[in-house]
Amino acid sequence: MVEEIWMPQIDKELCTGCNDCIVTCPTDALELVSGTAVLTNPAACNYCAECETICPVEAIALPYQIVLGSDL
Ligand code: SF4
Ligand code: SF4
Repeated sequence: MVEEIWMPQIDKELCTGCNDCIVTCPTDALELVSGTAVLTNPAACNYCAECETICPVEAIALPYQIVLGSDL
């Protein structure tokens, strides 16, 4: 059995190290490493997408997330 777990993908080329996602993450899954956000504690991530929402340069993507809303 294969269990697939989707984790936030952080584009190191885009990340400016602004720290916004790290202070926003409710589970402390992210840390700044050498000036770039890194998912250092993936087991803590609950896939809430707050990091993706807060990132000002769209460096974080949560692939395969299904968003339900009325403004599609
Ligand atoms: S998806 Fe949520 S829990 Fe996971 S790293 Fe981003 S802010 Fe933290
Ligand atoms: S919010 Fe975006 S630019 Fe800022 S540290 Fe996180 S990934 Fe990098």
